[in-house]
Amino acid sequence: MTDPNRLMSRRSTLATLGAAGLGLWAMHSPSAHADDSKGNDLNSLLPEFSEKSRDRLRRLLSAPGFSGHIPAAEAQALAETEQKSVGALMLGLLPLARTYSRPPISNYHVGAVVRGASGNLYFGANIEFPGHSLGFAVHAEQSALSNAYMHSDTGIASVAVTAAPCGHCRQFMTEMSPEGDIQILVGSSPAVKLSALLPAAFGPKDLGFKDGAFPVREADLSLPKGVDDELSVAALNAARQSYAPYTKANSGIALRTRTGRIYKGAYIENVAFNPSLPPLQTALAALIVAGESSSSVSKVALVEVEGAVISQKSAAEAVMAAITPGVKLQVVKAMGRT
Ligand SMILES: [Zn+2]
Repeated sequence: MTDPNRLMSRRSTLATLGAAGLGLWAMHSPSAHADDSKGNDLNSLLPEFSEKSRDRLRRLLSAPGFSGHIPAAEAQALAETEQKSVGALMLGLLPLARTYSRPPISNYHVGAVVRGASGNLYFGANIEFPGHSLGFAVHAEQSALSNAYMHSDTGIASVAVTAAPCGHCRQFMTEMSPEGDIQILVGSSPAVKLSALLPAAFGPKDLGFKDGAFPVREADLSLPKGVDDELSVAALNAARQSYAPYTKANSGIALRTRTGRIYKGAYIENVAFNPSLPPLQTALAALIVAGESSSSVSKVALVEVEGAVISQKSAAEAVMAAITPGVKLQVVKAMGRT
């Protein structure tokens, strides 16, 4: 669609970040499942699926409050209808996951489907932010894994992805499974364990920690007296859910969109530091897989620990300048133990 070598204007950038992948937004709107033209998107995306399964997916995607995941029972029913293993189902769903991709710099669309220990499936896709460091980008695996994390799944069983996981993602996944037990599914290749893709990994134990990011734990944080608005409370809940063993700088973001929905994003730290996922990126990934556009963000709140060794403020403001110009970041300092 776009020549990657051509510099994009801010206008086209915003249009790309805000646009619906293959018309999937409209399909997510409450009125959409009655619209045959939108329903047809799934016919072309998932031509090998039965009509019964596509109907099941349409119902899930258009349900109010859809949050980019397929509950375990629904995943099982889809696998049975398709007479496939859940792993094969995950691979089959990748074209749908890829529609959540927003890569205005590389124009390289990556989709991922994660299976949590609960059996739930979670969508994810890559997100890029023109005008800023490539370090701000979200990889598809990170998006899908953060989706599972925000749903407080108890662990990660497997990850299906449209291309082999890059080194950055292998490192990110090590934090989700320090023993390297996650099964990686790519194309028709046999499933392979993370430990085989990243042997001799540098993991949490190298910095003295026994566990990784799962199971999700709660930090004991509270808002200052007098701060009790809905968005700050949502950002506090995200910060309480965040994972920051190395800096103790727990943080969370809440985004409100013009549709009235609120999306939460927790900071997910990595032992190798750079693959850490900032809270704004986690929240944007949640917003996109729910079928909304970042251009509809109207308010953003960040809650972080008072006096912590790092802050998410400057990076969040830089990303917001690229995708939600004019929206001011509200920063609240939380108190308590992490
Ligand atoms: Zn990657």
